Amino acid sequence: MSKIYKHLETKLIHAGEPDPLINGAVSMPVFQSSTFEYTGATSYNDLKYIRLNNTPNHIALHQKLAALENTEAALVTASGMAAISTTLLSILSSGDHFLAQECLYGGTHDFITKDLETFGISYDFIDGDDPGSWEHKLKPNTKAIYVETMTNPLLQVADLKAVVEFAKAHGLISLIDNTFSSPVNFRPPEWGFDLSLHSCTKYLNGHSDIVAGAVIGRADLIEKITHKLNHLGGSLDPHACFLLHRGLKTLAVRVKYQNESALTIANFLEKHSAIKKINYPGLESHPRHQRASELFDGFSGMLSFELNDGVQATERFIENTTLPISAPSLGGVESLITRPAITSHSGMSPKDRQALGISDALIRLSVGIEATEDIIEDFDQALNA
Ligand SMILES: *Cc1c(COP(=O)(O)O)cnc(C)c1O
Repeated sequence: MSKIYKHLETKLIHAGEPDPLINGAVSMPVFQSSTFEYTGATSYNDLKYIRLNNTPNHIALHQKLAALENTEAALVTASGMAAISTTLLSILSSGDHFLAQECLYGGTHDFITKDLETFGISYDFIDGDDPGSWEHKLKPNTKAIYVETMTNPLLQVADLKAVVEFAKAHGLISLIDNTFSSPVNFRPPEWGFDLSLHSCTKYLNGHSDIVAGAVIGRADLIEKITHKLNHLGGSLDPHACFLLHRGLKTLAVRVKYQNESALTIANFLEKHSAIKKINYPGLESHPRHQRASELFDGFSGMLSFELNDGVQATERFIENTTLPISAPSLGGVESLITRPAITSHSGMSPKDRQALGISDALIRLSVGIEATEDIIEDFDQALNA
């Protein structure tokens, strides 16, 4: 009898697992084989080969990821940027135009502004919070709309319901980078998005030891993207598949803990006299707290804040903390702290950062799974030092 389950926590463990188990192995084995015996495939894409994204390790992951977001299909890729670039190059071609949210992950922003134009693909940036301003940016050749679940590093929450309605009204493909939320907190296909993108490097793997990506959603689009990835070559290596598969099993326990810990830390920081401003959608003071509460099951482990004093005091604070590691990236079991102006957003001009509200003194924290009390005690001593 097939297994009976409906909740995400159970899907993380059981969805996509081989049935029957391979030689009884409780954990999915690694198929470290580049090619597989020919069994009569009639199409190139059906030959079994690592680059064609169809080894047993790929297939198990694809089924698990699609189940997690309650949708039809998924594809894993060699990095988050491989998922994003391959997807955009699959659904857009020369002469097409698309709309993108103005405050995007740095790599995505650069790919759109520096690379896509050379393929003859044009774009306009939109304010995700102002649906009324989108229509006049539409062109006869507009094909897609691209947003992020929460912006980095300010944790703004765009009008995601309006994005889906707008896409449906104008026949656009809707895409969302769901890295910051993970399927535990938000499942874009349930809200009508066509494609959900992830840097699995972050929460999905969760252990800061691989780079990987995924695109999840409509089967017809995933097939098209898979064929493009087969040509571009950004397939995920089987050993990285194995690590991602293992990391995924604890996603729900990690993310729920990180949600709670981040909220407690945000509450502590909001009340501290040394803090000027804190950005966390779980706080009632967040301008889009209502919207975030309606859309999300949790507010993530990401927050950003500014001290009353400037950049020097900020640097001193980061140096004085003992637990978080000063590093970019996010979503791992260890807390990471960084100043986006010199790391994740250093590629942006100071003027552009200022226009978006990213001050040089802004601190971004990715909350790990350490004891919340230990992080608060550490922050307290570093703020008072
Ligand atoms: C890290 C990240 C990416 C890029 O992912 P890589 O795995 O580093 O290629 C894309 N989007 C967001 C929101 C990210 O945080």
